[in-house]
Amino acid sequence: MTTPKTPASDPAPGSGAGSDLNHPRLLAQAQTWIFDLDNTLYPARCNLFDQVDQRMGRFIAEALSVDHDEARVIQKRYFRDYGTTLSGLMARHDVDPHDFLAYVHDIDYSPIEPDLRLADALDRLPGRKVIFTNGTVAHAQSVIDRLGVERHFAEIFDIHAADYTPKPKPAPYRTMVERFAVAPETAVMVEDIAQNLETPHAMGMRTVWVRTEHAWSKPGVGVADADAADEGAPAPYIHHVTEDLTTFLHEVLASDDADPSDPTDAPARP
Ligand SMILES: [Mg+2]
Repeated sequence: MTTPKTPASDPAPGSGAGSDLNHPRLLAQAQTWIFDLDNTLYPARCNLFDQVDQRMGRFIAEALSVDHDEARVIQKRYFRDYGTTLSGLMARHDVDPHDFLAYVHDIDYSPIEPDLRLADALDRLPGRKVIFTNGTVAHAQSVIDRLGVERHFAEIFDIHAADYTPKPKPAPYRTMVERFAVAPETAVMVEDIAQNLETPHAMGMRTVWVRTEHAWSKPGVGVADADAADEGAPAPYIHHVTEDLTTFLHEVLASDDADPSDPTDAPARP
């Protein structure tokens, strides 16, 4: 489940690959778990993004009175240039973010199935659980209702709360941490888009990358190291890797049960 690590002599928070902080047992003692939503809490094979992607194109075609092909070009260009399609639409066309977000998340959630094993892991995992998504609270609630894990999440920080500045830009991480009074060195961030883990790592959080088949979710996409993206190689800001969040959480719980007296289980200090 985790990437092989060599123990390091200096386990400073945020020191990345090789740190003792990478031991899975430490995760079981985290005070706050921060979960991304899409393709993290539910499997990427549910492919909700395809539906959202289609509706973004349709919204643009209608709002800007352009044909389907032109709408797709605009959609992808704004995503590339502004970080999200919405940011481009707001900057260039004064689009109301509430209208856009409600429209694009008006989708069929039935591909998501109840996940009893995930609910069980979240039940047993100590610490507060929150969701940090570039989507909306309404979208997140639809997803966690389908999964059957709505009771586990105390808070949801969404793109409205982020004032429409998406991950991986640093600002929403800082706002989220303040809003929820998270001590980063006692927190874990879980994400399918590797790049979104760079700031949490720099802040002193431990990071878990839920690897998917999507090229854009791999380390290096959108940053300089394109080779790493090609290989899907872990980056220094990725402390743990899994392809199945539920199994990973159960493994974290099992590792904590295995040797509770081990002194290296002591929580990390800032
Ligand atoms: Mg995601």
